[in-house]
Amino acid sequence: MNFEKIKSANLIVVKVGTSTLTHQSGYINIRRVEQLVKCLSDLQNSGKHVVLVSSGAISCGLGKIGLRRKSLTLEQKQAAASVGQCELMDMYNRLFADYGHTVGQLLLTKDVTDDEQRKEHAKNTLRVLIELGCIPVINDNDSVSSEGIKYGGNDILSAVVAMLCEADLVVNLTDIDGFFDADPKTAPDAKLISYVEKITPEVIEKAGGAGTERGTGGMAAKLIAAKQCTDYGIPMVIANGANPDILYDVMSGTFKGTFFDTLEA
Ligand code: GLU
Repeated sequence: MNFEKIKSANLIVVKVGTSTLTHQSGYINIRRVEQLVKCLSDLQNSGKHVVLVSSGAISCGLGKIGLRRKSLTLEQKQAAASVGQCELMDMYNRLFADYGHTVGQLLLTKDVTDDEQRKEHAKNTLRVLIELGCIPVINDNDSVSSEGIKYGGNDILSAVVAMLCEADLVVNLTDIDGFFDADPKTAPDAKLISYVEKITPEVIEKAGGAGTERGTGGMAAKLIAAKQCTDYGIPMVIANGANPDILYDVMSGTFKGTFFDTLEA
């Protein structure tokens, strides 16, 4: 296993899912988010560049406006995203500022990244933010689009963002330890696969369906993201975000999780 690719990564896209950022109640998990921001700030201080792809807008918004999670219409979720995104950015802005870092928000949709000219604008904004030492915080623009809400939005978005900014590594922090040979929630003897050399159709077959009711991703979307990244030449890690300190272990190559390698040219 070649962890050099991780250790030498300079530009790192970190994706954090809703189930990691919020409690079951839907409200923000303050301790976890504070720890996450601390680790990301520390990574940035060490000379690396961090791009954060953060979910959680819909969940935070639902909590704030008092909408019940079950049986929501698309429009209600979009309204919740609009409220929750403010909550998220307010929090990131404050917490990163405590460590002397500046954040910039990008809300993307598929029609932006599919359009050459608009994609170029997003790419340039990202590049300049990174050059200036700012930390881009990115989410799907759910209030004006439905793709992200319907299917694994931010997992796929993290791959798109990694390609846009030519990242060296994607770290996907989620609510399980990594990619297993069966669903650990239903198969107690499922084994963690720590290294995937190549994402074959058989590997994808193992990934199963959707994630928690608070997020939309699930392992299937993470595998698609991993395939897009690794095909492009960017390795990806899936690890448990319950303790964001795991980012230190990831960067030193001593983590528990799954490493999706890129094929050598
Ligand atoms: N963009 C959604 C949000 O911020 C999350 C989508 C996902 O779970 O991937 O709530």
